[in-house]
Formats: sequence, C-alpha cells, structure tokens
Amino acid sequence: MIIAGLTGGIASGKSTISRFLSAAGARVVDADKIAREVVEPGTPGYDAILAFFGRTIILPDGNIDRKRLGEIIFNDPDKKARLDAIVHPLVVERSAEMIAQITAETPNAVVIMDVPLLIEAGMARDLEEVIVVYVPETLQLERLMNRDGIDEPAAMARIRSQMPIEEKRKRATLVIDNSGTPDDSRRAALAVFQHLKQRSIKAAE
Ligand code: ADP
Repeated sequence: MIIAGLTGGIASGKSTISRFLSAAGARVVDADKIAREVVEPGTPGYDAILAFFGRTIILPDGNIDRKRLGEIIFNDPDKKARLDAIVHPLVVERSAEMIAQITAETPNAVVIMDVPLLIEAGMARDLEEVIVVYVPETLQLERLMNRDGIDEPAAMARIRSQMPIEEKRKRATLVIDNSGTPDDSRRAALAVFQHLKQRSIKAAE
C-alpha cells in the first residue's frame, strides 16, 4: 500500500484529477465528503456542534446549515478553532478506518487522500508522496470565474485568501500540470498512478 496526498489551489483542477486517478484504479479518500458525513444528524459530531453553536445553525430539514456555520466562523478564529477541534479528529479517525479497510481488501492499493488544505494542515510531512495539481494563477483565475460564474475581483479575492499555488507546487513530490487539455491531464494522472502503483507493489513485497 502507498498513501499519497492530493491537493491544489481553488479551481486548479483537484476534483478533475481526483476523478482521473480514481478511474485509473486509485482508492480516493475524500476529506471534504468525510467532513460532511461525520456531522450528519444522529452522529456524535452533529451533537457536539449543536451543543456548542446552538439550534440556530440547524436547517428546517435537521441538517447543519453549513453556509451559516461558515459565516459564523469566518470572522471568529476562536469559534473556528472550536469547530475544527470537533470535526478534525473525527475526520482523522474515519480516514484511518477507511484506509485500514482498503488495505485489508487490497494490500497493494494506491490510496489517495484528497484534502483541499493538505499543506496548510501540515499533513504533507506524514505522507509518502504529495501530489499538487498545478495551473498558473492566470488560468486558475479564468477557470474559477467560469466555473463559479463570478467576476474577476471576487475570484481574485478567493485565490488571494489561499496559500499561493506556486508555494504549494514547491512542497509537492509529484506535480500534475493541469494547464493543457483534459486528455493531457488524464495521461499525466495515469502516469502518476502507475508510479505510485509500482511503489505500492514494492512496499507490499
Ligand atoms: P478544483 O477541484 O481544484 O477546485 P475543478 O476540478 O473543479 O477544480 O476544476 C476547475 C474548473 O476548471 C472546472 O470548471 C473544470 O471543469 C475546469 N477544468 C479542469 N481541468 C481542466 C482542463 N484540463 N481543461 C479545461 N478545463 C478544466
């Protein structure tokens, strides 16, 4: 088995590459999806959030109002830290369970930890490989504006709120350049998968 991290900047193409890696045969563990699952109604994460933030962050259907929660923590670092302290350990625990299950089923699996803020969260040093999906910032801006239907200042503000993509690229052990066609990127993702698969097979020997 080998565990590689997958990250990028907003609209650099992480979701696109994640799909290509999955199609190539990688087992993707999606941190955003897990972060939603561990706070679904009926979970201990849900109860903990409700206890701290109160009923005002619950939607009529019983789910957590993620937009509202996002607004609350946006300008309140203490509340953000409290929310992270609830959600983060649950995500780590669930990810570990999923990795254990994958390894039991497939000893030489290629596991991809898909984590938007992998580098910011300090996870890079614990992973054997860190894949960064890279595009130059001008293309990142253009794709973000197109995907989300927002104007240039709004897109730029979102890009500027993150670690620059050039910085992330420096911390990668593997870079997938996503500035070409989707087909170019599919091939690049396949090559990365094959590299990881070889390492995984060696590790299992
Ligand atoms: P992320 O998950 O990093 O935020 P996405 O995978 O959603 O980024 O990609 C951002 C946008 O760019 C999407 O609209 C996607 O369809 C488009 N896109 C991704 N890769 C390419 C590519 N190689 N060529 C053209 N458009 C792309």
